[in-house]
Amino acid sequence: SGKIGFIGLGQMGGHMAANLAKAGNHLVVFDVVDANIQAVKAHGKVDVATSPRDVAKQCSTIVTMLPSTPHVTDVYLGKNGIVHELTKDHFLIDSSTIDPGFTKSLSAQISEKGAKIIDAPVSGGVNGAKNATLTFMVGGTKAAFEQSQTVLKQMGKNVIHCGGASTGQAAKICNNLALAIQMTSVAEALTLGDKLGIDPKVLSSIMNTSTSQCWSSSLNNPYPGVMEGVPSSNEYKGGFASVLMRKDLGLAIDAAKSVEASIPLTSSVHQFYNLIVNQGHGGKDFGYILKFLEGKE
Ligand code: NAD
Repeated sequence: SGKIGFIGLGQMGGHMAANLAKAGNHLVVFDVVDANIQAVKAHGKVDVATSPRDVAKQCSTIVTMLPSTPHVTDVYLGKNGIVHELTKDHFLIDSSTIDPGFTKSLSAQISEKGAKIIDAPVSGGVNGAKNATLTFMVGGTKAAFEQSQTVLKQMGKNVIHCGGASTGQAAKICNNLALAIQMTSVAEALTLGDKLGIDPKVLSSIMNTSTSQCWSSSLNNPYPGVMEGVPSSNEYKGGFASVLMRKDLGLAIDAAKSVEASIPLTSSVHQFYNLIVNQGHGGKDFGYILKFLEGKE
């Protein structure tokens, strides 16, 4: 059928599904939180399913945007999972950021039944989801990548084929480990600079025209008041939650173990985010690392 299924209507998925509805698609959605379903219904023709399995009964194309590996396992393979309704016509797009090892085995199980699946995690954050400017990192066959274009372009701007199954997840976790280390380095520089008497605004403007310029210094500066409209100037609300960054760093560490890669800085930064989450700040943007280093809160 021409309907598109969407499962997982949270911070990201809610906007992504809304964009698909606004583009004129008839959606069939499912989430475990009713308020998240209601928010999407306002944006177009949206039916509500009773389970992932029910979504799969009604739609051949399905997008999933779930928090982490256990949720994806449940939605695809659980008691009321997609797998129980799978036909050769099904085309599944998992945009969650999860364990590449699991993605590989899920892909094998789905392909065995003649259906198609791609991993298509995203970067661009909640604003990218809202404005349909996300970058999709796609792992899967060339044919599946091509088939995904129409749907993904309605939710994002760049759709990049990374290679076979799970290489989209690999791209995503490598990007995020670099981002976490980069953010930590900016936070360390601004914290030390502050204590040495350099105004963080001045130091940031120097960094932004010098060799240490990066996304975390110029577009998501972690020092409160240096930039307007970023989480650090709004008590670290919104943005990319520390608990999700901790998850992605954990995924990178597990993946590195599986191939004996050495990523020592990732391990250190993962420990910081463990402490941040354990101290009750998991919901704050990952720029909160600056407050953690300052030791003020
Ligand atoms: P979220 O927690 O806001 O949303 C997840 C949604 O899934 C929620 O609505 C939740 O109710 C639903 N859900 C959970 N279990 C379910 C189940 N069994 N069946 C149906 N629905 C279920 O998370 P998010 O911020 O939207 O992130 C989703 C994914 O995208 C994560 O893997 C995250 O790492 C990744 N991501 C997030 C961002 C960001 O800035 N928030 C950016 C890039 C990638």
